[in-house]
Amino acid sequence: MKNYDLIIVGGCSAGIAAAINAKRLYPEIKVAVIEKLPRIGKKLLATGNGKCNITNLYALEHNYVNNSFTHYAQNKYTPDRIVEFFESLGLLCYSDSCGRVYPESNMAASVVDALRFELERLGVEVICDTPVTDIKKNGADFIVNNEYGCKKIILAAGGKSSPSQGSDGSGYPLAKKLGHEITKLVPALVPLCGSPEITKPMKGMRVREVNLTLKGEKILAKTQGEVLFTDYGLSGIAAMELAATAQKYIDSVKRNPFTYIDFMPKMTYNEIVEYLQSLCKIKGFCNLDNFLTGFLPKAVGIATCKAVNLYKSNKRIDELTLKEIKLIAEKIKNFPLEITGTKGFANAQVTSGGIKTDEIDLETMQSKKCRGLYFAGEIIDVDGGCGGFNLQWAWSSGMLAGELKD
Ligand SMILES: Cc1cc2nc3c(=O)[nH]c(=O)nc-3n(C[C@H](O)[C@H](O)[C@H](O)COP(=O)(O)OP(=O)(O)OC[C@H]3O[C@@H](n4cnc5c(N)ncnc54)[C@H](O)[C@@H]3O)c2cc1C
Repeated sequence: MKNYDLIIVGGCSAGIAAAINAKRLYPEIKVAVIEKLPRIGKKLLATGNGKCNITNLYALEHNYVNNSFTHYAQNKYTPDRIVEFFESLGLLCYSDSCGRVYPESNMAASVVDALRFELERLGVEVICDTPVTDIKKNGADFIVNNEYGCKKIILAAGGKSSPSQGSDGSGYPLAKKLGHEITKLVPALVPLCGSPEITKPMKGMRVREVNLTLKGEKILAKTQGEVLFTDYGLSGIAAMELAATAQKYIDSVKRNPFTYIDFMPKMTYNEIVEYLQSLCKIKGFCNLDNFLTGFLPKAVGIATCKAVNLYKSNKRIDELTLKEIKLIAEKIKNFPLEITGTKGFANAQVTSGGIKTDEIDLETMQSKKCRGLYFAGEIIDVDGGCGGFNLQWAWSSGMLAGELKD
């Protein structure tokens, strides 16, 4: 049996942050990170489209699922402190106008390298190609895979999202065995499926700055930002941020919600009617397929007009009646798509759900059920929107767990 003071299960964002903080705070302890993949940090390489959106400077104002649990870690390890942490590893960062922080190199590989070198410098043992399949309590200590012993253990095995990058949900049964409950798991930050007969002709078209409203019997969620039409439904950040709510609604009510797109949030319905009337004068001789090309991609404009049943593409624009113009304006403000599901965990950036937060001490990340067991990152029932918020949670909860406070 190889013995350690601390074993961390999972060698990605949260696990590495925990290992570095523990070893910086307690240089004398023997620390190992056990990772099932051949290398640590694989998921990080895919983040932010290969650029790694490390954190977000506005994360403290961001509304995470289970905000009341996240605030202690986030206030202690703030986004500014995370940037300082990376600078202490020699990695310079910059932020954009939305507060999203990236490495100056624009390469996620630089982030992984900086973390890897710090683990090496601190003397943390990294054990790869080793899936943890069993953790047993042995008095006050733990035995991992009947092979490794430790006094304290941090479970940072991630969720179920994007299993090709390691996180396949195998951390949950380990937590369950140690007495923890797992809340309902659904894919989050993932494209929406539905209404392909409407979206397919618009495949590849992006529309910036739309408002999206997800409705069942009542409004379920609202988002803003870009959407991308696909052959199966809707992608883009604004759509992906609705996914977990849509899936939970479908699972619980067994009915499909609708998402309504407002293509022109800057204008009221009346302003749009007026604007469309002016368009009739400017290009009245054109056919209807060209009616909305002044502000929407052509295929999206056609689909919007087609959503009005009176639409005939060979009609001239100046033949539109006021009633038809009003119906088109209505669709520009409220374009409906039925949502039948999501692209699933395989394509999800995050898992919604996880270890129940009220079973974890929010000031230490220690289990309330099993002394010496700590949690960090996505394995916990916490998730945030797109923009660096989920990595911010992984770093901050990882560092807090790495303090190893009782
Ligand atoms: C494509 C993509 C892009 C993303 N982009 C961003 C972004 O730009 N900004 C942002 O904030 N968030 C982003 N995210 C989300 C972010 O990557 C995660 O929230 C974050 O990585 C979670 O960190 P974690 O360490 O808790 O879990 P993970 O990163 O999932 O790491 C868990 C680790 O544990 C290992 N493991 C799992 N089970 C076991 C086991 N039984 N034994 C041993 N090892 C195990 C896994 O192999 C993995 O290395 C993105 C996610 C994806 C999929």
